[in-house]
Amino acid sequence: MSFKHLPNNIINESANWLPDSIKNWKYGGLKYKDLIVDLTKDALEVKPGCHFWNGGIKINLDSSTKINGLYACGEGTGGIHGSNRISGNALTQALVWGGEAGKNSAIYYKNLNEKTYQNKKIKDKLEKVKRKVFNPILNKNGYSPIKLRVDLHNIAESYLRPVRNKRELDKAEELYNKLEEKINNQAVQNNRKIFNKEWQLAIENYNLLLIMKTIIKSAKLRKESRGAHYREDYTNIDNKNWLKNIIIYQNNENKMDFKIKDVVINDIKPPDRIIPYGEDK
Ligand SMILES: Cc1cc2nc3c(=O)[nH]c(=O)nc-3n(C[C@H](O)[C@H](O)[C@H](O)COP(=O)(O)OP(=O)(O)OC[C@H]3O[C@@H](n4cnc5c(N)ncnc54)[C@H](O)[C@@H]3O)c2cc1C
Repeated sequence: MSFKHLPNNIINESANWLPDSIKNWKYGGLKYKDLIVDLTKDALEVKPGCHFWNGGIKINLDSSTKINGLYACGEGTGGIHGSNRISGNALTQALVWGGEAGKNSAIYYKNLNEKTYQNKKIKDKLEKVKRKVFNPILNKNGYSPIKLRVDLHNIAESYLRPVRNKRELDKAEELYNKLEEKINNQAVQNNRKIFNKEWQLAIENYNLLLIMKTIIKSAKLRKESRGAHYREDYTNIDNKNWLKNIIIYQNNENKMDFKIKDVVINDIKPPDRIIPYGEDK
């Protein structure tokens, strides 16, 4: 980003609008003005950053999920505000469902029967998760979680960009499959169990990979553009075919699977196309 091409009087004029608090922004002993290049003479590199996660855990009105005892709220939940999130909505999402999750999980816990913990199926599942979590520490040889994290970032930045298309999503899928093998075979250099950041990276890599798979697969499925999901090969909203939610779940064979369900419309019926400004009058 640069203002080099703009006449000076426009820049000076706009600088006059800024309150002094922004012009002389200081935080934690740093003067940000000193760190920022003069955009009238130089350029600043700008790239997309993650602001909000629109997808997430499917919850009921009381914040409960399909898993008994698991309550979810805030940015970790999906579908509350549809395919886009209008500025400020995260606050309501966190507070309204945060309150519900807190209240209802406390009630669930109070009524919990100890037998629930002893359920054999749950114990087996926990053992499986435990093995996966400890693998990077127990493995003598394997891939470095630090290097794999860079690979994960590179795939996401190159092929899961804000503007998507089939060719790049296919590429992401191909690279994902190669990375999955490596992430299932990670080894950390230091096998301390306390404050081990490399182990933390390894565990997060499992989760990031899973999330990446949900993004690739659902972005490929949704052959339209809607909200924050933009496909340059399907540039329009398609309410006729795609007024749908994509629900991702684990099937009976423990594999990731997808259901496409109609959006439940209670009050406001959306138009079946974008109505140009003024045409509705
Ligand atoms: C730059 C930016 C600007 C934004 N501006 C706005 C705005 O103006 N208005 C608005 O409404 N929203 C805004 N948002 C979005 C909003 O801030 C978030 O959606 C909201 O804070 C999410 O709250 P949360 O409690 O759901 O999750 P978080 O605030 O992310 O809280 C999750 C917590 O869980 C902790 N955690 C993670 N893993 C573990 C673990 N394994 N064990 C224990 N703890 C764990 C994390 O450390 C974190 O503290 C903005 C977001 C960004 C990035």
